[in-house]
Amino acid sequence: MNKTWDIPGGIHPPENKLQSLKQGIAEVPLPDILILPLNQHIGAPAMPVVKPGDTVLKGQLVAEPNGFVSAAVHAPSSGAIEAIEDRAIPHPSAMDASCIVIRTDGEDRWVDLHPNRDYRALTIRQLLNLVRDAGITGMGGAGFPSAVKLQPRQSIGTLIINATECEPYITADDGLIRERADEIVIGIDILAQILGNPQQILIGIENNKPEAYTALVNACESAAKNGAITSSIEVVSFATKYPSGGEKQLIQILTGQEVPSGKLPAELGIVCHNIGTVYAVFRAVYLGEPLISRITTVTGNSCTKPGNYEVLLGTPTNHLLGTAGFDEVLCQRLIMGGPMMGYTLNDLNAPVIKSTNCLLAADIVESPAGNPAQACIRCGHCSEVCPASLLPQQLYWYAKARDYDQLANHHLADCIECGACSYVCPSEIPLVQYYRAAKGEIRLIEQEVIVSDRARQRFEYHQERLTKAEQDRTAKREARREEARKKAAELAKNNSESSSADESDVNVDSEVIQAALARVSATKNSPEQELKRLERAVTAAENRLAKAEEKLRQCPDDDSRKKVLEAAVAQTRLRHDDAVNKLSRFKIADIASEQTQSANASAKLADDPTDKDQLASDRASLAIKNAQLKAARQADMSELEKLQNQHDSLQKRVEKARNRLEQAISDNDDNIDAYRVAVEKLDIKLNNSETAIANFVPDDRTSDTLHIEDSEQHN
Ligand code: SF4
Ligand code: SF4
Repeated sequence: MNKTWDIPGGIHPPENKLQSLKQGIAEVPLPDILILPLNQHIGAPAMPVVKPGDTVLKGQLVAEPNGFVSAAVHAPSSGAIEAIEDRAIPHPSAMDASCIVIRTDGEDRWVDLHPNRDYRALTIRQLLNLVRDAGITGMGGAGFPSAVKLQPRQSIGTLIINATECEPYITADDGLIRERADEIVIGIDILAQILGNPQQILIGIENNKPEAYTALVNACESAAKNGAITSSIEVVSFATKYPSGGEKQLIQILTGQEVPSGKLPAELGIVCHNIGTVYAVFRAVYLGEPLISRITTVTGNSCTKPGNYEVLLGTPTNHLLGTAGFDEVLCQRLIMGGPMMGYTLNDLNAPVIKSTNCLLAADIVESPAGNPAQACIRCGHCSEVCPASLLPQQLYWYAKARDYDQLANHHLADCIECGACSYVCPSEIPLVQYYRAAKGEIRLIEQEVIVSDRARQRFEYHQERLTKAEQDRTAKREARREEARKKAAELAKNNSESSSADESDVNVDSEVIQAALARVSATKNSPEQELKRLERAVTAAENRLAKAEEKLRQCPDDDSRKKVLEAAVAQTRLRHDDAVNKLSRFKIADIASEQTQSANASAKLADDPTDKDQLASDRASLAIKNAQLKAARQADMSELEKLQNQHDSLQKRVEKARNRLEQAISDNDDNIDAYRVAVEKLDIKLNNSETAIANFVPDDRTSDTLHIEDSEQHN
């Protein structure tokens, strides 16, 4: 006999288990509809693989796992998919959630099954896949996907099977063990194989289930004797006390080890599975059947036929209750689960799901109307019964005050919500409800932190990308400027003997202007004469282009000269553009020269401000010249330069908007949202501008010109 250890606290409420054990496991007639929530488990909701109108067979996959922590859903009977829509589901919040609704056809036809009687020939990976594909989740109430729990990172030395079922009224596991112990033992053997054959396999069961204990002992002995299993399994019975069935509590009872706060049993080399889960694993691997049904206890004084029922998942609660002789008038409170950890179920259309171990239809005797909660009298009873050695009274104060830091310091996360503290509280304070609400709020806060952390990371990444892009662009600009600088220096050197040796340090604008002025002086014309000459050249080019276009217009399509005329128009247009560009560059140089002269004059006047009117007039003239120069430069820019110009200006605006947003956040300004929207809009514009620059295709007329000239020579 394996040694056992005691756990702190605990209570002994009336068991009320006999009512549902008077009969064996009963069948439930096939309901007309089955409602399958996509999220019957902890983790991501499953993804439907069927659509309304599809027909399905019993055991067919209707929703696949959506991620590592998720679970598949299968059709519990044959029929047609009637809808995929929100329906009431069993949940403490009484919420609706997405469900697949199947209208059964009454034929209950199975898909092809693939049993694995020789499961020892399968690899661990194959066995894990079978468990995962069958959609098995913890059947004791937690609903954690079993395949995930069967892949701990640590090596496992002890496998514990939880057959404790310590909560009053619930006997689903007891009934299952009494009737199907042989199958359960094979299920344990499969789990042992998946976990690398742990040295120790223990089944923990309270001593208020002697029939189930005997059935397990006999099944283990005979399976070992006839070679059906290779594992050595020990069935350990211990004194009944609520809540011995908590995972950490059972581990302590069977091994004497305490799982530290915030740690998982696997970190001690221990894995714990519910006995209902083990049976589901047997069916999945040995028989090839997915999880489509479970044993559920239906009990309470409002039922004339309390008992354990084998019920298809998705069966509406009212259908199951009807089978158990439910009297709605008598029922004071319908509880999903047991009286200690269950929650009130208000909608009788909500379905049975994978974790539904009990439906308690309590009458007024079993669930008397509660008295209003009184003030805490600091009696300390709650602390005495807490199996997790917590301070429920303090947790209550901190939960009421929403002091989440103190709740964390007092290990709220270790509370298993067993309700023992509420049960003994003389002030009838619903302590556990405060803890559940606080845990829900903490979860929400944690999710918000995760979301905002992700947003911050995205923002920082975006900033980094922009900085890098800007650095690249600056480097390219610098390279272009350097090129222009060299050309201007060369030109100036050729045209002016007096060019100074440090000319390359002069800014680009003045170099370009000097070069243009040098060109102008080389023509021996005065600036006015040169301007007129260039304007005449533009007018002449316009006339030539108009004539060439007119000739082309008049030329019939089938005329052999048509192509030559088209080429001539293209070339004339290029010459026209060239004349326009020359005029434009000359004007910039001219304006800049005047601007320099004007600025110099203004500076002289400012040093000696004897004529204030002249100074004002010169300043105004300088401003006009600046504006003209800017406009002329803008007009002279290439499309790419315009895009870059626009991008630079947008970047400055984005920076400004971000600074404003940061300031608003630090000031807790009311307009944070508006500033954030402004930043987002500018970001989009900036991105579009970057895309436009990246996708820019230059209008390569030079190559066209060459081509035209070539073709003219050939002709
Ligand atoms: S049992 Fe109730 S009354 Fe007593 S200390 Fe705890 S919360 Fe207060
Ligand atoms: S509900 Fe939480 S605090 Fe109360 S006894 Fe149970 S574990 Fe302790």
